[in-house]
Amino acid sequence: MKKDGSIIKELKKITKKNIMRTIFEKDKLGEMEKVISDFLAKRGLSFFDTKDPVALAKKLNFSLFLANFDDSIDGVIIVDETKSKIDKFDNNKIIAVNSSANKIRKRFIIAHELAHYIKESENNKKVVYATRDHNNDIRGFDEQEIDYMAAALLMPKDEFKKDWDNLNNKILYPNFDENAKWRKLMDKYAVDIDGVQRRISEIEIMGA
Ligand SMILES: [Zn+2]
Repeated sequence: MKKDGSIIKELKKITKKNIMRTIFEKDKLGEMEKVISDFLAKRGLSFFDTKDPVALAKKLNFSLFLANFDDSIDGVIIVDETKSKIDKFDNNKIIAVNSSANKIRKRFIIAHELAHYIKESENNKKVVYATRDHNNDIRGFDEQEIDYMAAALLMPKDEFKKDWDNLNNKILYPNFDENAKWRKLMDKYAVDIDGVQRRISEIEIMGA
């Protein structure tokens, strides 16, 4: 047996890759979609309201801040609905985003933090606290679930699927290769290529 740590290092790499690429099963995907749609329905909202996470945060009465976090911290959410205000703030719902993140990244971070709130609210929790730290290599199942929900907010299933089906229509888009299709979706939904590709595969798992 080698004792130089290289095997451990390789294993970690493989584990990291696999864990970060967890593909959820159909039932689980449906469950997560339902958590969001139930949450929205109770508030008179729909997936028309979720593509712009800043607007959604405002509709849900969040205060949004930009913060000079360490590079490793993407964002933070603090909610305490048992109080009218969180200490030192004038609101009981706060999301702070790393000011150095680019625009696309900021949108995803806000959607991610809102997804925490949505999930906890549906579990009848009144207090939510979460920090997103991307240096935390091996992301747990829960965080991946929240990432899925963030993507579901930014790229609503039905609309996204319709767009994807259209883009695959050779009569409508005779000259479109895969890259052109992805680009079109990246522009429309203001997400990165990884987000678009992942959403396509998840929507394929979900079927109709
Ligand atoms: Zn998180």
